[in-house]
Amino acid sequence: MNIIKEAFKFAQALITRKKTDFIILHHRAGDGDVESIHAEHLKNGWAGIGYNLYIRKNGQVFQGRPIDKVGSHCPNYNSISVGICFEGNFEIEKMNDVQFKAGVEAIKYVKSLYKNTKTIGHREVYATKCPGKNFPLDKFKGV
Ligand SMILES: [Zn+2]
Repeated sequence: MNIIKEAFKFAQALITRKKTDFIILHHRAGDGDVESIHAEHLKNGWAGIGYNLYIRKNGQVFQGRPIDKVGSHCPNYNSISVGICFEGNFEIEKMNDVQFKAGVEAIKYVKSLYKNTKTIGHREVYATKCPGKNFPLDKFKGV
């Protein structure tokens, strides 16, 4: 699959994960490009964009933190998971087919790198609505 890599400058050294047990799915709860997430997460005082992959509504897949690095997207799970974020707010909208198919490909790709990972939604392990009630979580779990 084609992963678009931006030349992000991270504010702190990134750490390589030792374990990868989960793929954690998120929504952005809004729209916008990958650079704007990087800017927001820098403002949080983080190293930069906290997700490993970001999937836009047009099906483009962007690398955030490199796939093997510890992210900043889910307390207690960052060091054992890959974080994938989807553009949109799936509390109030539904995912289009192009974005859904890109998500399936992204999950397959991560699973090809890390065997035996379990796909979960952010809300399953943290008090949040993320990735939204309309998010096709069960379908992605079946990938
Ligand atoms: Zn989330």
